[in-house]
Amino acid sequence: SAGAKESSTEEKGAPEQGPTGHSMLAPFTSGSQQTDLHPLVITRSEGVYIYDNKGKKYLDALAGLWCTALGGNEKRLVEAAYKQLNALPFYHSFWNRTTEPSLKLADELVDLFKPVKMAKVFFTNSGSEANDTQVKLVWYYNNHRGKPEKKKFIAREKAYHGSTLVTASLSGLANLQKGFDLPDAFPYVLRTDCPHYWRNHLPGESEEDFATRLADNLEKLILKEDPNTIAAFIAEPVMGAGGVMPPPATYWDKIQPILKKYDILLIADEVVCAFGRLGTMFGCEKYNIQPDLVSIAKALTSAYAPLGAVMVNQKVWDEVSAFSDKLGQFGHGFTYSGHPVSCAVALEAIKIYKEKKIDEYVASVAPTFQDGMRTLKDSPIIAEIRGTGLIMAVEFGDKDPKKPFPASWGIGSYFGAECAKLGLLVRVSGDIIMMSPTLIITTDELKDFIRMFGEAVKITEQHVQELQAKQ
Ligand code: PMP
Repeated sequence: SAGAKESSTEEKGAPEQGPTGHSMLAPFTSGSQQTDLHPLVITRSEGVYIYDNKGKKYLDALAGLWCTALGGNEKRLVEAAYKQLNALPFYHSFWNRTTEPSLKLADELVDLFKPVKMAKVFFTNSGSEANDTQVKLVWYYNNHRGKPEKKKFIAREKAYHGSTLVTASLSGLANLQKGFDLPDAFPYVLRTDCPHYWRNHLPGESEEDFATRLADNLEKLILKEDPNTIAAFIAEPVMGAGGVMPPPATYWDKIQPILKKYDILLIADEVVCAFGRLGTMFGCEKYNIQPDLVSIAKALTSAYAPLGAVMVNQKVWDEVSAFSDKLGQFGHGFTYSGHPVSCAVALEAIKIYKEKKIDEYVASVAPTFQDGMRTLKDSPIIAEIRGTGLIMAVEFGDKDPKKPFPASWGIGSYFGAECAKLGLLVRVSGDIIMMSPTLIITTDELKDFIRMFGEAVKITEQHVQELQAKQ
């Protein structure tokens, strides 16, 4: 129905550009959208802005998909790719053969990650492949320790860890699973609470008490399932695609000792948070997280080339190293693991992050974004505004989380379309608007961002009033 289509959101944020179809089977897009409508075609980017094929300019509120950290035309990244393409466009990293950029980048990443000393870096092409690799590494680790029954993963409601079979199963989002026999097809996932205070706290419960309750629930789950069957806990420092949920105060302090107590590895999914997004180089720094394994991607190359990576601590590496010696090899890898062009781009991106002190820069502009957005908090249609650093969500609805707007109203979609008209391209997911602009955005650009956002809120307020009057 038209109503259902309207509430299916993400696809509708952009203005429709008239009928006709295309042959591409597009990710996270409905079938009829693919055949009936022109997609919004982006042809050019410049700093924080992108341009469509009609020449319309938008401020790219999500930095691509939370990834173009250095914006749209960082020539140094282009030159790094060009130089590497000329020198050596490709060689692989199998069988103890490899390339210089991949070796250098692994060293660089081990050096850059301060929360704990990492031992090794394995390269993938994406965040999904990184998390898929985590699952295999964790199983390999436990199999070598003589704990083959220690196989289950604990992941959180609303998590996003990727869209391959295994990572879509780890993700706690129904839209990744419906129609694919998931998550049941991968029966090794246990689900624990989403640490979203506003939505999930009990009446009168403080953030700290909420965190204590979630930690208790985690421990109960572990004991119920038997700690000897649980291999790892995977989590984003700040939850991203599920709706941007920073953890409540003391959450990570309370979760980590429980994992240690039951010999459960901690996988930090830093795919969105790493490289400055939260105002620290890694999300783990911000919340004092000490993971055994880390996944990164996205801003690793500022998305100028595809690249993901897994970082492994010494404890895990010792087992993986010994087991692979016993088996003859570590039987896992991709043709493009450590692609030299992607690695050369990542090396230059990291060089720029360091030169710009990107973490400090984000921390310095974050108040303009966070406080500026929060000036909208008294709008009668805004339920919650949340975020930290340069990541935010605005959720529409009643202030009471139990009273969302009817899905058939499609408020998020309506708002997204109004933003697009004004020149701001936001991500819409139901009635949640998600934002993570490029990390080089200036305070003036942030003010312009907030101005457009505020104008679209005013227009949407009017629209909601009309809908309410009709009820
Ligand atoms: N982990 C997180 C936290 C993510 O946000 C994403 C992508 N949005 C992924 C993993 C998967 O990354 P990719 O799309 O590169 O496979």
